Amino acid sequence: MPPPLPPNEQPDDWTEPGAHPVTAGVYRVPLPLPQDGLRAVNVYVMPDIDGLVVVDSGWAAPSTESALTTALGTLGYRLDDVSRVVVTHAHHDHYTQAIALRTRFGTKVSIGWGERHSIHAGEEVYAGGEAGVLTRPQLAMLLRCGAPDLAARYAQYLARETTEARDAPWGPPDSWLDDGDVVGLADHKLDVLATPGHTRGHVVLRDNANALLFAGDHVLPHITPSLGFEWVPEPSPLRSFLQSLRLVGDLPDTLLLPAHGPVTTSVHRRVEELLAHHEARLDAVVRHVREGAGTAFQVASAMRWTRRERRLDELDTTSQMLAVLEIEAHLNLLVEHDQLATATGEDGVVLYAPRR
Ligand SMILES: [Zn+2]
Repeated sequence: MPPPLPPNEQPDDWTEPGAHPVTAGVYRVPLPLPQDGLRAVNVYVMPDIDGLVVVDSGWAAPSTESALTTALGTLGYRLDDVSRVVVTHAHHDHYTQAIALRTRFGTKVSIGWGERHSIHAGEEVYAGGEAGVLTRPQLAMLLRCGAPDLAARYAQYLARETTEARDAPWGPPDSWLDDGDVVGLADHKLDVLATPGHTRGHVVLRDNANALLFAGDHVLPHITPSLGFEWVPEPSPLRSFLQSLRLVGDLPDTLLLPAHGPVTTSVHRRVEELLAHHEARLDAVVRHVREGAGTAFQVASAMRWTRRERRLDELDTTSQMLAVLEIEAHLNLLVEHDQLATATGEDGVVLYAPRR
């Protein structure tokens, strides 16, 4: 197969509003986010016979809706022309605008079957208001990671900052996607691949004929996807994530159409970088445990974070939470691989030690 074509007419700043053509019949539409850590989220718009098929939807908010309306307008469409939204995973910035469109226009919404746990749990949580939000499993996870202060700060953050999350529309999809399903359009055949890791029900969509991968948050060009940040996390998100990276790395190379960041020319190149990043992380985690770090929090505090090599306590609260839980996932994979031993103290904190 010839190498994928370079992205067409993409702006220098990937967050620039508009409907940017990627290839014939596929437009990238970046939408703003109410929580700005990821800057923007890309949705991909494909005109079809019965309207528009859209991959991912944005975070339900007035600014999202107006940006999407304006971008679709440049293509000669309106919001109610969106007939179907295929969602890669149940994070708010991907899923909630789809539910909002369904409420108003009857738009059909599909998402991976593996997301059912967190979608159903989320329904109960949002029904419980502020108290419900504080049932996030990440709080208990931080305690077992030996990070009670961070857990307390994250609880404060949740109580203060999650109005956007609580107010966003939520609910089950119209249909669930399974690995091997096909989303058929007139000009595109999208193969559904289950890629658990970022979330347990994450799916990517592959257009083999046009050499495109709608990657959601599975493969991101500039950042390392977080692992298992969901209402009902799986026990070993890193193992799943690495398997899912190898899955897309073993298929012929395509353009990378990510949810955050610009379209880039090679899925393979980025998959190799992410695999190498986690290999290096696993080595560093073992080294820090040998040097005496015993909890996930202690290991995370010994590591450096982001491209700027920041200390853990220099990150914002949510990023610290994600970092500590990512290290826990690394530690648990090393336990699975018999490189580390583990024991739980009376206080519920999990301790790690080198295997001798
Ligand atoms: Zn996500």
